[in-house]
Amino acid sequence: MATIHRHMRLLSRMCYSSLASQKPSSQWGISGMDGESWNLLHKKMGPEERNMQWIFLGCPGVGKGTYASRLSQLLGVPHIATGDLVREELAQSGPSASELAGIVNQGKLVSDEIIVNLLSRRLEKSALKGETGFILDGFPRTTNQAEILEQAMEIDLVINLKLREDVLLQKCLGRRICSQCGGNFNVASINFEEKEGTPAIYMAPLLPPPSCVSKLTTREDDTEEVVKERLRVYHAKSRPVEEFYRSRGKLLEFDLPGGIPESWPKLLAALNIEESEYKERLAA
Ligand code: ADP
Repeated sequence: MATIHRHMRLLSRMCYSSLASQKPSSQWGISGMDGESWNLLHKKMGPEERNMQWIFLGCPGVGKGTYASRLSQLLGVPHIATGDLVREELAQSGPSASELAGIVNQGKLVSDEIIVNLLSRRLEKSALKGETGFILDGFPRTTNQAEILEQAMEIDLVINLKLREDVLLQKCLGRRICSQCGGNFNVASINFEEKEGTPAIYMAPLLPPPSCVSKLTTREDDTEEVVKERLRVYHAKSRPVEEFYRSRGKLLEFDLPGGIPESWPKLLAALNIEESEYKERLAA
């Protein structure tokens, strides 16, 4: 536990400070470094001096990645998905990758220590590029992670995406990734009737262009058994994170009304974002 807090203190310093020196990373990034070696000037930026620091919460398959990525492009802030950081580690061969694969492919959570180190390393890259702000997707996933993050930096807003559970399973099973361009698609055609007061929902498939069709892959943890386990783990470990932010007045609940064409404009409206205004700003 003490190690995790030390990493988060470093993480905080890295994000808010000018870096005076850089140390080589060890297996998980910053293990082994101590605060003194960084010789950093600690300065927490207020919200007026930096870009937004937002979090997307929600069950597996809800679309955190899709909406976080769209918002990050629109708002010009980095989209940081801890699931992607984990998959990058998995793609490396070696003992740490096979240890991770064993955890992820069973639908379990990676240890706080590993995930905090991966996130620290990613935020460090952003800080070195002079980027401020982020849209976090997939972190925090436990109240312990939320507490660690809270000690390190201020979170402005947490968007909790919601979708009925039968849809979540179908969306995970329909997910496809192009092994060449990395594009995310979904072959599931969702057309669910109203059920026990839950409104009917329609989501068209998000089909790949012809150039990607022969290169589609499925995530190893997107099998029915593993998705069900991920949903169980979400209810047990991540639901309390919603309450953590609700009690701090930071949680925005958003029920997805359908696919991207219906949900995106409604999400922007809920966030009070004028798409054209941001597009003009980015183009200027
Ligand atoms: P999901 O579709 O379940 O939201 P992600 O792509 O966010 O999946 O994450 C994939 C896997 O990576 C998770 O099932 C978990 O094993 C690991 N992971 C990602 N983020 C975290 C985290 N914050 N804490 C622990 N494990 C994580």
